[in-house]
Amino acid sequence: MSVLYIVPTPIGNLGDITPRAVETLSNVSFVAAEDTRVTLRLLTHLGIKKSLICYQEHNKLTRGGDIVSRILAGESCALVTDAGTPAISDPGEMLVRQCADAGITVVSLPGPCAAICALSASGLPTGRFCFEGFLSMNKKSRREHLASLKDEHRTMIFYEAPHKLRSTLDDLYAAFGDRRITLCRELTKIHEEFIRTTLSKARELYTELPPRGEYVLVLEGSTETEEVKDVSFDLSGSSKEAAARAREKGLSRNEAYRASLRAKKEGSEE
Ligand code: SAM
Repeated sequence: MSVLYIVPTPIGNLGDITPRAVETLSNVSFVAAEDTRVTLRLLTHLGIKKSLICYQEHNKLTRGGDIVSRILAGESCALVTDAGTPAISDPGEMLVRQCADAGITVVSLPGPCAAICALSASGLPTGRFCFEGFLSMNKKSRREHLASLKDEHRTMIFYEAPHKLRSTLDDLYAAFGDRRITLCRELTKIHEEFIRTTLSKARELYTELPPRGEYVLVLEGSTETEEVKDVSFDLSGSSKEAAARAREKGLSRNEAYRASLRAKKEGSEE
């Protein structure tokens, strides 16, 4: 059947592959993999023999077209990456778009994802969060990215490589000041660790300790409340005149009008 399956694979612990993922990998016509050597090891572990093609960042333009043609011709494809959920800071986004545009059914299997695994155990608010992926290597776009998050109230999730962890902690501290952060290290692996701390203490910790393994950083959102506007204004004269004065205080036309009516009503009830 002509379907693209998005198949998450373990981020460390091989036991995390779901029975449905195994069944799908067994039944598809072929597997599109980020690194075919990595996926071959997984398939061998699962006892699955399957034709593999490479789908990566650098060949996604041409390879995507080939995959779409094969699926339209009646084959089914499982898209996998080296670890975790395809299309999440991993190749896949463009293939999904191409398949959807070609009218191909896209089936997304739930499964391991480092961001969600980290967030759920972070101890930080999970009600509202945003995924920020990797920060750019480029200093300017990195700074712009962090500046755009200055007033973000939601919990933020970042992916990070160990060799960049120290400078990222410095940049986060410079952009946000001291905040709670949970460093989620080596998830699902033997040395899994959740360091629930603050940015200043995390920086201190890693001045001595060399960062090792894979990290997800879960950062507390801004806890600052919005500035309260001074809405007191002279009520003499008509509602229209009072509203005009309120507007001078920086209220919008609607806010000003409503505030003047409210104030007049409260005044008449006293
Ligand atoms: N698509 C994958 C996912 O959804 O989990 C993420 C792929 S991205 C290229 C790799 C990044 O994910 C790593 O640099 C790290 O930030 C995070 N990551 C992946 N596996 C991890 C693990 N076992 N422990 C901590 N972080 C992990």
